[in-house]
Amino acid sequence: MPFSQLGLSNPIVNAIADLDYRQPTDIQKRAIPVILSGKDVIAAAQTGTGKTASFVLPLLEKLHAAESDTERNLRGKRIRVLIVTPTRELAVQVEANIAQYSKYLNISSMAMYGGTEIEPQKQRLIWGIDILVATPGRLLDMAHQRAVYFDQLEAFVLDEADRMLDMGFIDDINKIIERLPEQRQNLLFSATISDDVRALAKRTLHHATEISI
Ligand code: AMP
Repeated sequence: MPFSQLGLSNPIVNAIADLDYRQPTDIQKRAIPVILSGKDVIAAAQTGTGKTASFVLPLLEKLHAAESDTERNLRGKRIRVLIVTPTRELAVQVEANIAQYSKYLNISSMAMYGGTEIEPQKQRLIWGIDILVATPGRLLDMAHQRAVYFDQLEAFVLDEADRMLDMGFIDDINKIIERLPEQRQNLLFSATISDDVRALAKRTLHHATEISI
C-alpha cells in the first residue's frame, strides 16, 4: 500500500518520497487513517517502528487541509499542535522529522526544551508556531511566563508516555493538561502500556482507539 492511499495529499507524499520511504510501516498503516478521522488514539509502539511519522503525517495533513479551507489565522504566542516529549534529544529529533515532512507545506514548527536560554525561544513564539515540540518543565515555564497560550490548540500528543512517567513528569503533565482547551484531539504513544500509562490515558483521552503492533 503506498502512502498516497492513506489519505495524505501530494505535498506530504512528495516529501516522503524524497526521503525514500517506500511503504508505510505497520504502525503508520494503522494509525494514520484513525488520526485523520479525528479520533483519539492510544498506541503501543517502540522507537524504530516509524511511530513518529505515524502521528506527524496525519497531523500535518489536518493542519494543511484546514489552511486551504479557511484563512490562516494563527495569532501571536498561539500554537495549533503540541507534542510533549520526555527529553530534549527526542524533542529535537521529532522536530527535525516534522521539518522534513513539511518541507512543501507552509507550516512552522519548533523544538523547545530546558537547559538553554529562554529568551530566544520566547522570541520565536511571538508570532505563533503551528507545531510546538516541548519537554514538560520548559513548556510549563513558558506558560507561566505567558509566552505561550493554548486557546487555539487542536491536537495534543504525548510521545513516549511510559518514559515520561518513569522520569517523574506526571505532575508536570497534569498541569499542562489542565491548561489545554477541552475540545482537542489527543494522541498517546508509549513503548509499553503499563497500568500507570493506562490511568493517564483514561484521564486524558476520550473514546480512544487502541493500536498495538
Ligand atoms: P521512529 O520509530 O519514529 O523513531 O522512526 C525510526 C526511523 O525510521 C526514522 O529514522 C524514520 O526516518 C524512519 N522511517 C519512518 N517511517 C519510515 C518508512 N515508512 N519507511 C522507511 N523509513 C521510515
